[in-house]
Amino acid sequence: MAEEHTALSVALAQLKLASKKLKLDYGMQKMLSQPKRSILVSIDVRMDNGSVGVFNGIRVQHWDARGPFKGGIRYHPNITLDEVTALAMLMTWKCAIAHIPFGGAKGGVCVDSKKLSKHELERLTRRYVSLIAEYLGPHRDIPAPDMYTDAQTMAWITDTYSQLKGYSIPESATGKPVEIGGSWGRTEATGRGVMHCIKQASENNGLKLKGASVAIQGFGNVGYHAAVAAQEIGCKVIAASDSTGGIFCPDGLIPQEVLAHKEKTRSVQNYKYCRNITNEELLELQCDVLIPSAVENQINCKNADKIKAKVVAEAANGPTTPEADKILYEKEICLIPDILANAGGVTVSYFEWVQNLTREQWPLEKVNRKLEEKMTKAFNDVEAIVAKEESDMRTGALMLGVGRVANAIKVLGLWP
Ligand code: NAD
Repeated sequence: MAEEHTALSVALAQLKLASKKLKLDYGMQKMLSQPKRSILVSIDVRMDNGSVGVFNGIRVQHWDARGPFKGGIRYHPNITLDEVTALAMLMTWKCAIAHIPFGGAKGGVCVDSKKLSKHELERLTRRYVSLIAEYLGPHRDIPAPDMYTDAQTMAWITDTYSQLKGYSIPESATGKPVEIGGSWGRTEATGRGVMHCIKQASENNGLKLKGASVAIQGFGNVGYHAAVAAQEIGCKVIAASDSTGGIFCPDGLIPQEVLAHKEKTRSVQNYKYCRNITNEELLELQCDVLIPSAVENQINCKNADKIKAKVVAEAANGPTTPEADKILYEKEICLIPDILANAGGVTVSYFEWVQNLTREQWPLEKVNRKLEEKMTKAFNDVEAIVAKEESDMRTGALMLGVGRVANAIKVLGLWP
């Protein structure tokens, strides 16, 4: 069957499957299939050369039955309302799986951030926030970084929101620099969380992680920190890539040095001692663990049967299509789904929000210990459902997340 998926069609199919397994009634399924609010804005920006740039901005708030909306903001030229809606839905399930008191949201701006200067990006970010500010806030909707946004973007968001309200509100965004209330360990959290899941999965699958080979597609925030965490526990990172292509080094590469090379040349390619490979080749490498950490639909019906990894940990959101899911399951490859594998980021975002509300700053050791506890608990909660239902991990994770949100909605009731 030809694969013609959008991120939203996949998210809705996943919801339908979980709803059926959980025996949710039609009304509940319908409620969960639609976001509570979708905001579209036009962002006018004074460019450095004096002209005006006009960019489309989106914020989708899916469900907040378990707590305020929470979700990243992505800058990407191809972003669509459908994609942002799907990502907001995944955030709702993810927060429920990690058992943190947030709902799900996502934001996006159609922009190629690499083509804008830092000043232009700052003006774009501030204007975007000013347009959606009435729907944001520490008890309403709390943004975080995603693709092509970072701690600096969150600093601009926090400052703009605070300026509009007239006082400092650090808890209005997470993923900020530590100087202004960011949490120690937030930048590394998603990558570290992925490795906590891989540790649990390897214990269950009898895979020794010491010396295990790891291939990482996407060497950005998540991919780089997953590489560092993998190295810390004795794995060998044999391949990495970015949007320009990949590198392969069977003896293992040093993530910090590859990052320095990427910062200098804007690409991981042509790094010494490595052979250049394509992103497609990277996915099909002989390795123990594969970590897709870039964009959607990378593992699909064209390449799923060529995947040789024993464990695939979805650090990115939606890197595997439904057809590929089935193929990997039949090949008995352990697939750790995105809504579980990459929940470390929002977990430490929650820690950051708690620290900001209490005006505290926890030491890194405390953040990392609590992250490990949360990720291990979430993994084991999913595994318990997988064992009971004899399902794959994605279905187990969806049942856990969707089930917790549906229960919260039932208990709250419908007003009026
Ligand atoms: P990032 O912008 O820091 O890095 C993205 C990386 O992917 C870059 O190295 C880029 O060159 C590379 N890339 C882009 N297109 C590619 C392609 N077609 N093939 C290979 N590489 C490609 O973004 P990030 O924050 O690391 O996010 C990566 C993924 O993780 C996204 O799917 C995001 O939604 C997800 N995620 C991020 C967080 C977080 O805390 N940042 C949390 C949960 C999930």
